[in-house]
Amino acid sequence: MARTVLVTGGNRGIGLAIAQAFAKQGDRVAITHRSGDAPEGLFGVVCDVTDSASVDAAFTAVEAELGPVEVLVANAGITDDTLIMRMSEEQFTRVLDTNLTGAFRCASRASKKMLRARWGRMIFISSVVGLYGGPGQVNYAASKAGLVGVARSITRELGGRNITANVVAPGFIDTDMTAALPEERRAEYVKAIPAGRLAAPEEVAAVVTWLASDAAGYVTGAVIPVDGGLGMGH
Ligand code: NDP
Repeated sequence: MARTVLVTGGNRGIGLAIAQAFAKQGDRVAITHRSGDAPEGLFGVVCDVTDSASVDAAFTAVEAELGPVEVLVANAGITDDTLIMRMSEEQFTRVLDTNLTGAFRCASRASKKMLRARWGRMIFISSVVGLYGGPGQVNYAASKAGLVGVARSITRELGGRNITANVVAPGFIDTDMTAALPEERRAEYVKAIPAGRLAAPEEVAAVVTWLASDAAGYVTGAVIPVDGGLGMGH
């Protein structure tokens, strides 16, 4: 059965691969983008997840075009790495505001229609770093760990209404975000990954589409790593 799916930050990277995977299986897919145009074939809405009015307007636009959001993929995220002694409070709160509060804003808005429909899927894109920590990533790790608490609390609140909330924790995926890393750092990471390679965004997308499927209806409150063994299941 075709569903209405909204992927935040679905204009590039992991979000785009997720949106394309849903579109390929016949779902009605909307993505958010902040600037430029939506990728071809996907319904795009302009949205900044740090602004609740913008989130509300994006959901309203998707509802008018494709119907109520049944599957939310909270994917939009940023990094702003630096060691804790150099990290400003602004750097910390800006990353939290996008990655954690941004996901909350979307989940809160989505929950109303999901409750009415008595069906919904929320999938939060966290990171192995949220569970494992990362040097220079106090802000990012805190934001990604926070998503686990969000998903598990939603599971407890809405689990009885056919609404699942799960976390996907990717490891090292080949996107613009990781392209920004220095070569030595990249090589170090690859050495630590049992699979011995980075993943393609499509490998994350495959897990996300499965979580949204009817077959995964009894999987909720889970954290699913897609990290080539880097976090050993954590
Ligand atoms: P990219 O940097 O390639 O893309 C980030 C996406 O988030 C873009 O679409 C961007 O939109 C969007 N975004 C950022 N800030 C906002 C905002 N305030 N409002 C709305 N959209 C916003 O990242 P990836 O594809 O690599 O990462 C996607 C998610 O996966 C992130 O949450 C990231 O933390 C997580 N992740 C990535 C890993 C990796 O190895 N790449 C590993 C683990 C987790 P715009 O184009 O407008 O900037």
